[in-house]
Amino acid sequence: MPTSRPSRVMMINEPVDAANAAIRRISDEILRRQRFLLTSHARPDGDSIGSQLAMAFALDALGKSVRIVNADPAPDHYQDFPGMDRIEIASDVDATVDAVIVMECSDLSRTGLGGLDDHFLINIDHHAGNRMYGAVNWHDESAAACGEMVFDIIRELRVPLGLEIATHIYLAILTDTGSFHHSNITPRTFDICRQTVEAGVNPAAMARRVFDSNSFGKLKLIGALLDSMELADEGRLAILYMDEAMLLACGCTHNDTEGLINLPLTAREIQAVVFFKVGPAGEVRVSMRSKYDVDVRSVASVFGGGGHKNASGFTVTEPLDQVRPRIIQLIVDAIEHGLKSRP
Ligand code: 5GP
Ligand code: MN
Repeated sequence: MPTSRPSRVMMINEPVDAANAAIRRISDEILRRQRFLLTSHARPDGDSIGSQLAMAFALDALGKSVRIVNADPAPDHYQDFPGMDRIEIASDVDATVDAVIVMECSDLSRTGLGGLDDHFLINIDHHAGNRMYGAVNWHDESAAACGEMVFDIIRELRVPLGLEIATHIYLAILTDTGSFHHSNITPRTFDICRQTVEAGVNPAAMARRVFDSNSFGKLKLIGALLDSMELADEGRLAILYMDEAMLLACGCTHNDTEGLINLPLTAREIQAVVFFKVGPAGEVRVSMRSKYDVDVRSVASVFGGGGHKNASGFTVTEPLDQVRPRIIQLIVDAIEHGLKSRP
């Protein structure tokens, strides 16, 4: 395993065998090295946490030495997952290692870490537009989560699928598919999930841990956000806004905002959501989510961001008031385009 991967398309015009070659190459590079540093993107999500920790437990099983370094701590509801105490938070990497495995990053700057450039880099990612910055690169846009790719590598390494690894692979897939809502899910996604459940993962318990662990403050924040939600494009676009004052009034931190963007999509008419988050220094993060063929990544890329068709983001560099109408118009255009291409 894996020998043939019939349900996955690698990249346009690349044969499926290219994925197998990449998996074998990464596995070889791992087996011949001893000291590893693992990292992922700043403001980690479930896929970055799950991919890194699944890889860490697999490298442990091979007797390798492993450090995990991230630019930011994970949201609170991930803190009880196995191995979370292993993640070091830093802004620079000062380590002597034989390889750095970067997961979930289309560009090295996404890590938010300095000091990575001079290392032997293994780049494993499923975001569109990956810059191929590694000595070894495996980029597979068809993967529903980076965790799917990590799963393939772990199988190639012949590491048994123990409960800790299975839990983190399932966590990666559960969160990066938006709890099985996004359009990047393939038969392979379920095949991997099936194997993790056979290894002891309890899907109901995982869903409760990840999605039903809100604080009361977060419930208040949900109320405040939905109360101030605006609609555009005849109700097809929802606009959410949040600043420090709202967070403070609800007794929340930025950690509590994960997942809130998905709420408006539960309304049948709403095809896309844009969420403006103003940070403590006035900086504005923009997150977008969409349904079906509405491509919000194309909007993010106009502003120097990225992500996936149904989930993407960027940081605003101009004053929000000036740039907001343009962002909204581009999303409205993406909705029109997506609706037209729907069967
Ligand atoms: P979120 O809205 O949860 O921050 O991000 C959604 C998706 O877009 C994730 O896959 C994330 O990695 C990607 N993304 C968010 N912000 C940026 C950005 O500034 N640059 C790039 N390249 N991707 C981003
Ligand atoms: Mn991901």
